[in-house]
Amino acid sequence: MKRLLTVLLLLSVFACGQAQDINGLIISNISIVDLEKGSVVPNQSVKISEGRITQIDDIGHQAEDDFPVIDGTGKYLIPGLMDCHVHTTAGPPNVLISQLEKALKDGVTMVRDMGGDAVMINEWQKDENLEIPTIYTSAIFAGKSWMNNDRRALMSAHRTTPGTTAWLRSIDSTEKIDQYLDEAKAFGLNGIKVYADLTAEKLNKITDKASERDMIVYAHATVYPATPIEVVTSGVVSVSHSERLLTVLDEKVAQTYHLDQNNNRNYIPEDLNSQPVINLIDAMKQNNVALDATLLVSKIRSEQIGDNQDSRLKTVYALTRKIYEAGIMVLAGTDYMIERESGATNLHDELILLVEKAGLSNLDALRAATINPAEVFKLDGYGQVAIGKIADLVLLNSNPLDKIANTKDVFLVIKNGKRLD
Ligand SMILES: [Zn+2]
Repeated sequence: MKRLLTVLLLLSVFACGQAQDINGLIISNISIVDLEKGSVVPNQSVKISEGRITQIDDIGHQAEDDFPVIDGTGKYLIPGLMDCHVHTTAGPPNVLISQLEKALKDGVTMVRDMGGDAVMINEWQKDENLEIPTIYTSAIFAGKSWMNNDRRALMSAHRTTPGTTAWLRSIDSTEKIDQYLDEAKAFGLNGIKVYADLTAEKLNKITDKASERDMIVYAHATVYPATPIEVVTSGVVSVSHSERLLTVLDEKVAQTYHLDQNNNRNYIPEDLNSQPVINLIDAMKQNNVALDATLLVSKIRSEQIGDNQDSRLKTVYALTRKIYEAGIMVLAGTDYMIERESGATNLHDELILLVEKAGLSNLDALRAATINPAEVFKLDGYGQVAIGKIADLVLLNSNPLDKIANTKDVFLVIKNGKRLD
């Protein structure tokens, strides 16, 4: 009898634990920030069930289902934020995990990893005890010289030879591209990042074959010998780093960039109205290529280097503004998820820079971390507070449409329908 009681007790404890996980939540009386319309809808009640938003209205559901109720009075609800450019390989795993945990607490519910150790990332994502953002994973496709010489390739290789695995692939010829893409897909990688040392011929074949498989390809701004113009007309969905796009302004820099990256980083173009820039922006627009601007990392590097960097940084901001004003979609990525010294989550500061330096409206900056990446990377369940979407949500204490820095003012984060403490 005693044993039976123990079993029953255990079962009921188990049932309670499960009920909390699989049931849901109600957020009552909240103001929803509508990122499509750019307005705030007050006094809404949001019901979440089994990880998804199942109902939104102004009636209130407090009595239903015995779901716990979060009082949203005075709070603002936005979709979880996405940092579109992080590197999960830049440090020891325990440090990286704590950085990811910190980012999630600050409202970053998804990150696009730009090509880390995919075996390790898969292990993290399967570990239910880890409270970290969802990681959108990338396979890096690059030339052999990059794979063999870049220490980041070695760090991501998971004790294999860089360039020989599904997530880190050396593209020596165009022959095996079909096979490499199939392997990346079979491994579960979400997208292909083309990085360096690729000709336009190889790049075009990668994007053609990827689109046959409904796979997404995106690029670093400089993939030389493929030039930025060749990159943005190849079929990639986004390019990273406004600062790297500056090289398009100078033929000589463009031709020698891959030979002398460090020296060419000091290049400061004078004229953003020159034909090469106009051509680049036109090509981005015509080919629907989004810009992952990464302004903060340019600012941090500029502060570290000093010298001529002020005028270079101003040009980076001005180019980003020009691209945004041309109607090209902007994505918010940091390259540098957590500020090393202060421990702050950098995405919020990237959003502030996009507003203050590149002229984005508060609404467009918010979109750059929500509905824009959802559209560009085909993340159907994400990026909006809407019925049927995954309940990755952030409750803010103040309205981010009034002031973009209010995204730092986090009251509470919900991940997959589960409230984080
Ligand atoms: Zn990067």
